Amino acid sequence: MSLTPPNTTNPDPASEDATLSGLFNILSTAPKATDEASETNLHPQTMCPAFGGLRVVTRIDGAQVCMATDKGCMYGLTFVTHFYAARKSIVSPELMNEQLAGGSIIKDIRASIEEIAKDPSIRLIPVVSLCVAETAGLAEELLPKKVGNAEVVLVRLPAYLIKSHPEAKDIAIDALLRRFATVPTVPAAPERLGKKKKVLIIGEIFPLDTMAIASVLERLGAEGITVLPSQHLEDFREAGEAAAVAVLHPFYELTAEFFSKRGVPVITGNPVGANSVYKWITDLGFALGLEAAHVEKIATEEKEKLKAVLQAQKLEGTIIVAGYEGNEFPLVRLLLEAGANVPYASTSIANTELGRDDHKLLTMLGTELRYRKSLEEDRRAVLKHAPDLVIGTTSLDTYVKEQGIPAVYYTNIISSRPIYFAQGASIMLSMMQSLLQKRPVYEKMKQFFE
Ligand code: SF4
Repeated sequence: MSLTPPNTTNPDPASEDATLSGLFNILSTAPKATDEASETNLHPQTMCPAFGGLRVVTRIDGAQVCMATDKGCMYGLTFVTHFYAARKSIVSPELMNEQLAGGSIIKDIRASIEEIAKDPSIRLIPVVSLCVAETAGLAEELLPKKVGNAEVVLVRLPAYLIKSHPEAKDIAIDALLRRFATVPTVPAAPERLGKKKKVLIIGEIFPLDTMAIASVLERLGAEGITVLPSQHLEDFREAGEAAAVAVLHPFYELTAEFFSKRGVPVITGNPVGANSVYKWITDLGFALGLEAAHVEKIATEEKEKLKAVLQAQKLEGTIIVAGYEGNEFPLVRLLLEAGANVPYASTSIANTELGRDDHKLLTMLGTELRYRKSLEEDRRAVLKHAPDLVIGTTSLDTYVKEQGIPAVYYTNIISSRPIYFAQGASIMLSMMQSLLQKRPVYEKMKQFFE
């Protein structure tokens, strides 16, 4: 449908009227916008993306961050880092208009590094370069590699480009591996299989999960595991000795690429849910070159244990999962296997190649998946599906509770519990059962406030 533009050089009131009425006709006959299309999605659900990278580097023993940023970011990030990372202060050179216009950024950062390195207990100075410094430009070549006892590593986190804090974790780990992990260059895989069968696990996991993974891998025949991100700088060095790498979460793309480019086998997925436990163990066994019959035996045992848990702890009800951690979809898989209805799940990260299997499986099972979601999308899903339980972000949960629906904060409730293998599944499912029973309490609360 075309609309003739008004004749502006020779305005004719009659023809202008005709044009305007044509425009109104188009608008009135156009299909009505759906709720989704007419609503603006204004609120991306993730905190400042740089936080994820800061969390990784501030937690390392002997590390003192030097942050290249302005005062606003410094204030907010110091606050969340104290809360959710390590109780450490962050050092930052002043980076305001004067320094930016005067071009003294590098000089000021070097001075801060020198000051930090005066403390002999500091072994690592991550220079975390955020939006402002990255926009102004920071030349890595002009930074020292080592000062005193401290290694200096530049971690570039232009948060406006990264989009979510899980993805910033990946950037930080990649920067540390590039500096510290020495991996033989390709072709290394066949030699590697003859060496120690060490496994590197990539993903922030609950300590009980680390123990569960270590115990299964030991029975399998692996000769030690290292987990990154870690508090110990040595773990980043030892990561280079891994015979196989298991990337548990789909946003560690750079880290996965670091190893696969160097010929180290990378296993995706994670031991959550019966089929995935089996696949994860057999994939790892194959990558390590372990005896197939033995691997099959362990994988089947673990799968059967998980099936028994799923059988004993069935779920009934509709659950929406809407976190921002980037590890939400394995939980959805577990809930579906236990019998719950999960019509919608969302995350702050992008749809990546590493998460391809989960994406295929969950969409096939009927769960609508949203990547890089916004608060508005999550809210619409709550109205559409009227769930019995929401595991969401804080802002979504406030809204959900107002509807009289039980809601818990994903980060506090899920990330602080085990989920892997039968033991993790059992703990997670029993918590879900008790949360699902809370609906009448929330409805009563809603009525009370009304
Ligand atoms: S300007 Fe960049 S670094 Fe600073 S708070 Fe915003 S997103 Fe984070």
